[in-house]
Amino acid sequence: MKKDTLIIRINSADMEEQLVEAAEMLAKGKTVAFPTETVYGLGGNALSESAVNAIYDAKGRPSDNPLIVHIASLDMLDELAEEIKPYAKNLMGAFWPGPITFVVKKKDQVPYKVTGGLETVGVRMPSHPVALKLIELSGVPVAAPSANLSGKPSPTDVKYVLQEMSGRVDCIVDGGDSEVGLESTVLDVTGDVPVILRPGKITREMIVECVGACEVDPALLNKNEYNLTPKAPGMKYKHYAPDAEVSVYSGDLMAVIKIFYNKIIEVIESGHSIGVMIFEEDALVLERLLRDNAIYNLTKDKVHLVREGSSKDLDILARNLFKDLRKLDELGADFILVHGVSENALGHAIMNRLEKASEGRVFKI
Ligand code: AMP
Ligand code: MG
Repeated sequence: MKKDTLIIRINSADMEEQLVEAAEMLAKGKTVAFPTETVYGLGGNALSESAVNAIYDAKGRPSDNPLIVHIASLDMLDELAEEIKPYAKNLMGAFWPGPITFVVKKKDQVPYKVTGGLETVGVRMPSHPVALKLIELSGVPVAAPSANLSGKPSPTDVKYVLQEMSGRVDCIVDGGDSEVGLESTVLDVTGDVPVILRPGKITREMIVECVGACEVDPALLNKNEYNLTPKAPGMKYKHYAPDAEVSVYSGDLMAVIKIFYNKIIEVIESGHSIGVMIFEEDALVLERLLRDNAIYNLTKDKVHLVREGSSKDLDILARNLFKDLRKLDELGADFILVHGVSENALGHAIMNRLEKASEGRVFKI
């Protein structure tokens, strides 16, 4: 059934006043989409089975895929988690509020609906002021997956939340663009050593620096080679299937640019359209090559070069990744080429999302 969706646009003046109605809706078991620093979330009271059902319905999400529960204080964590290891407390102290989810042993009152039947629950305290205030005012822990239809990229811009969720949720809070752009790091802290189940902005390197050790779920490292099942159920799903065929190339810079050049010419010669996500400095080199090509000069409108800042600042690529994939889809690109990065620090999360977006078409040159 189509819902009447209340839309609330936040301006920083009286944030609290503007959020009261949305917070009441959450407390009453309604669904509210709201901004966080990672991506927009689609929230509902985590302790109410019917609210959680409404989230799965709105998203069209398989219900074996657990939801992250968002909190505004450590008191809320106590309602959800059975026991927290000392090293996990250190990590929470270092990175919360922020873009990292901790998988902990759940208390009985957390419905299996939220955890996809697991005995553990993923918990995160977001740093976005709107998210924090909304959860605090609602007084309930808020289960929230990303606010997109299942199979679409996580929305970092409210425009896409409005497009996909109007009529499907009770309220949408517009609080501007998400700063990080990639979903949170998911870290299992139920064992003796923390294990990354989904890479994100808080990197393995940062975790090691804080507590001395951090492993990575082998299913993430070995990709498709050994058919391992990832420990975060959500990681087995393809997250975004653009209409365009995405290919990712990394390695020797000039070799990658040459491949991009040849692919662009091949695509426009066949009458198709192509998007290229490339770092600022490399775009200059590629454009110089293209300028001398007659076909390119005739069919420039079929080529969309999207600049992703400098290769020295991967924050920009992370922030724009999902938005630019959506944008190129909207522009009707048949193919998308992306300049990949090395898989350390934030590059690990970026390449993980690109692996999914490209359905494994990742090439090292
Ligand atoms: P999203 O809500 O779209 O950010 O996705 C949440 C991610 O966290 C998915 O990949 C889930 O499978 C994962 N996740 C949430 N809770 C747990 C849990 N208890 N154990 C393992 N993975 C989890
Ligand atoms: Mg998601």
